[in-house]
Amino acid sequence: MNTGSPIIDEAFPRPVRWGEPELARLAETLRQPSLFYWKGPQTAALLAEFRKHHAFKHLTACSSGTAALHIAVAALRLRPGDEVIVPPITDMGSVIGILYQQAVPVFADLEPRTYNLDPAAVRRAVTARTRAIMAVHLAGNPCDLAALRAIADEHKLALIEDCAQAWGARYQGRPVGLIGDFGCYSFNDFKHLSCGDGGVVGTNIDDYGTSLQKWGDKSYDRVAGEKDAALLRDPADLAPNYRITEPQAAIAAAQLPRLDAIVARRREIAAQLTVELAKVPGLLPPESRSGDTHSYWFYFFRLETARFAGGQAAFAAALRAEGVSLSEGYLPKPVYGYRVFQTHNFFGGAWPVRDAGLTSMDYRQVRCPVAEAIIADGLLLYMNEAMSDAYVAKLARAVTTVAARLQH
Ligand SMILES: *Cc1c(COP(=O)(O)O)cnc(C)c1O
Repeated sequence: MNTGSPIIDEAFPRPVRWGEPELARLAETLRQPSLFYWKGPQTAALLAEFRKHHAFKHLTACSSGTAALHIAVAALRLRPGDEVIVPPITDMGSVIGILYQQAVPVFADLEPRTYNLDPAAVRRAVTARTRAIMAVHLAGNPCDLAALRAIADEHKLALIEDCAQAWGARYQGRPVGLIGDFGCYSFNDFKHLSCGDGGVVGTNIDDYGTSLQKWGDKSYDRVAGEKDAALLRDPADLAPNYRITEPQAAIAAAQLPRLDAIVARRREIAAQLTVELAKVPGLLPPESRSGDTHSYWFYFFRLETARFAGGQAAFAAALRAEGVSLSEGYLPKPVYGYRVFQTHNFFGGAWPVRDAGLTSMDYRQVRCPVAEAIIADGLLLYMNEAMSDAYVAKLARAVTTVAARLQH
């Protein structure tokens, strides 16, 4: 059926992600007497650059997005068995910190077209043990933050925003991260901005803000320690070492001025794809709320599978034959379907909070039908700011051509 050469007959574009600004900062870093983050000029520069985009009162740089999220969860001082509502389609990094704090991730289902937490499902998931909601802005599409904020306020829950995929995204004009109690960001190598690995966590709540640094730094209190050395090393809590280093911070600081251009180009590409895909019956482009700024870490659309011979698998195979870089469904299964959840193997084959009777959660019983449908019929197109208009036109043509060919 596929005659001749593929529609996309060129290599997948790769952006040049680092250059003179990063080199200059790294050179400066290597002339410093220390590469330690605390009082480090590169870490300070990173936080200053970050604040130009997100005006947080309290900020801590750390070693990853997972670390940023763990720090936010730890700052809530959860009790074993407390519950945090999370979406089932997300990175493992969203749930790792919850489990390490002996709290219980509770999966709530998604909206079918934004792929983000459905506020109605979140409301149904609230129990007497719920302490927080983790809003993941999947692919850079802002969650329904007004609705989630209202549920959180009504039940006195914290709202943590996982912005790892949402650099540059805006909820009704405001940068994501600032509507919740915490905003958490990742600089891992695959995100809009990268320093290899790194993260930032911010809050405007003073009670959390003053302790944010400690939760990623062995609970050493460097602020108090400056006034009284005895206070530095007398940890009052248990906390891991999630410190960033100066070379990472230097690269991250130099990356931030690139953000607006990266997001603007990604939005143009996505808009071009959506215009073309929306013309084809059975292709369902992603939706974002009007007034929101989706920053398109990836482009994810769904198929009305009954309309296409062979469904998701055949569609994906045909796209690959046309030279398209894609993945089926983003994740192979929802997070609760992962082996570690299905076997409750969180700590050496056991799950202490359940063994102690502090939760009755059984992840083998969890079902989120919308999330499962999204995984079963969705296709993820890899994208980045280096794609030319001509490349995007070929990409759109590959999708619409395959759709026409497989249409019943
Ligand atoms: C990447 C990612 C994380 C984790 O970030 P790391 O820096 O890789 O630890 C968390 N949540 C989401 C939604 C992510 O995409």
